[in-house]
Amino acid sequence: MAGRLYGKVAIVTGAGSGIGRAAAQLFAAEGARVMCADINDKGAAETAASINDKAPKRALSLKVDVTVPEQVERMVAETVSGLGKLDVLYANAGIGEAGNAIDLSIEQWNRMIAINLTSVWLSTKYALPHMVAAGGGSIVNQSSLAGLVGIGGIAHYSAAKAGVIGLTRQVAVEYGPKKVRCNAICPGTIFTPLVETVWSKGGGVAGGGADMEETKKRSALRYPMGRLGELSDCANLALFLASDESSWITGYAVPLDGGMSAA
Ligand code: NAD
Repeated sequence: MAGRLYGKVAIVTGAGSGIGRAAAQLFAAEGARVMCADINDKGAAETAASINDKAPKRALSLKVDVTVPEQVERMVAETVSGLGKLDVLYANAGIGEAGNAIDLSIEQWNRMIAINLTSVWLSTKYALPHMVAAGGGSIVNQSSLAGLVGIGGIAHYSAAKAGVIGLTRQVAVEYGPKKVRCNAICPGTIFTPLVETVWSKGGGVAGGGADMEETKKRSALRYPMGRLGELSDCANLALFLASDESSWITGYAVPLDGGMSAA
């Protein structure tokens, strides 16, 4: 079976839900063998099963807390031993939570930084040696529109996602000579369980709200293109950045936001 990732092996973290699941399924449909990693092992196993139903033995799943170094190291080791190598890391796992700079507790701040930023460094730390030894690879980090521009009600989330962009640029520069590319995706709103969590407590571009359908409409109107993102919008961009089609793109934080950051 040919495809835009034919012959490649990818890890997708946060593959048990939302964007990560959509990306893992698309990567596999484009020929990659995929490690579906998530702290939610049931979700990760469901994603892997949905892939293997169509193409047997194309996916593995693993329970991983991406904030725990030993578990991340094991994720990379089991990918290499189970699928043969590592070409692509999509460091996508993350959480959403509303909170402004006054009201956040130190526990909320530290947890957010651990899950949405430290985890990206840990995945990079353990993936890089394999990519360098193999002569190259592509790391795709999940940032956010909130890492590029200020959005109300999500102070710790914004800081973590801006940190992801800094790490992305640094890794791109340092490992470019080793043919490892590193880019970040900065999505605006794509309705997932994470967004529901943020909206229900008043965060997000339109200030959130308990009525999800009403908030979806209000939020969509804030985007120049007049709609929210789709899972496929993000999975398609991740696929492009993972594939050799983007072979001279590195160190870039790509807005995926229907024009919001251009406004
Ligand atoms: P989601 O809640 O559907 O999926 C997130 C996944 O990450 C879940 O399966 C969850 O179990 C997993 N996860 C959380 N903590 C983890 C941990 N410690 N270890 C391993 N896995 C963990 O949310 P989503 O919207 O698909 O979010 C995916 C990524 O996209 C996140 O990094 C999020 O910040 C980012 N993002 C989302 C949006 C959006 O609008 N949905 C916008 C910008 C960025």
